[in-house]
Amino acid sequence: MATIIDGKKISQTIKDELKEKVAEYKQNGVEIALAVILVGNDPASSVYVGNKKKACEYIGIRSLSYELPEETSEEELLTLIDTLNKDDSVNGILVQLPLPKHIEEKKVIRAISPKKDVDGFHPENVGALLIGEPGYVSCTPAGIIELLRRSNVEIEGKECVVIGRSNIVGKPMGVLLLRENGTVTVTHSRTKDLKEVCKRADILVVAIGKPMMITADYVKEGAVVIDVGIHRKEDGKLCGDVDFSSVEPVAGAITPVPGGVGPMTIAMLMKNCVDSISLLS
Ligand code: NAD
Repeated sequence: MATIIDGKKISQTIKDELKEKVAEYKQNGVEIALAVILVGNDPASSVYVGNKKKACEYIGIRSLSYELPEETSEEELLTLIDTLNKDDSVNGILVQLPLPKHIEEKKVIRAISPKKDVDGFHPENVGALLIGEPGYVSCTPAGIIELLRRSNVEIEGKECVVIGRSNIVGKPMGVLLLRENGTVTVTHSRTKDLKEVCKRADILVVAIGKPMMITADYVKEGAVVIDVGIHRKEDGKLCGDVDFSSVEPVAGAITPVPGGVGPMTIAMLMKNCVDSISLLS
């Protein structure tokens, strides 16, 4: 029986710590504001944006909402970002992805000032992470490190295997585990003998985007398994990239879906907004 790593509870603790910090800032006349931009009406994106705004409200961060129509041009979006970059009362700028097809995501990510890039997607912040300099770190992998830390999972010297090499999860995850002195292997769709590689892991982070792909035969007895995936099944329930009922009896600890990595992503976004006070100065 694995220990269940409760991301909902840990994220709540983090949000409460941040709430206190924000109140202290407010007493000293410092207010934090996050600009949230949503283009179009993708239902999943609307839910994510709504949850981010709710978290801002809870913590005491002012959220400025920009809900733009699907047909918004790239130029219009870039103009808005430029205005927000120049606005000293705005600490963070978040553009909810994915964007409509006629807008180039890369261009938009680069347009956000690295000092306001609370998602940690700008090449300058990604580069800073790689060489261990201060900057914003992508929220999902940062949240996973925090989950491990607050669950007393030691990373130093451990075999860490990440499945997936996306820019927002897999790659930064590998770098962060390395920064914590883990021995890191990043695997992907071309990895040979994936099962064998995964079976070496003391800590297995799964970010593949394939519902319930990882079963017990990928997992070493007692390993810590972190499931990043999130999918809605036909019956309406959520599941991850890990087949929870198969893996849970083998793992030492495991994150559930929902209630594992997801809530941590938002908590770390809030942390990045609060950290903007020191990073902006
Ligand atoms: P992505 O599609 O960008 O990347 C998937 C990665 O998995 C790729 O690097 C690919 O090489 C690898 N992959 C695909 N098939 C594979 C296979 N058969 N074997 C080994 N590797 C394979 O996805 P992403 O953005 O990194 O997201 C991964 C999952 O995490 C998705 O389900 C996404 O919805 C979820 N996600 C959750 C959160 C959260 O807050 N919980 C945040 C971001 C992403």
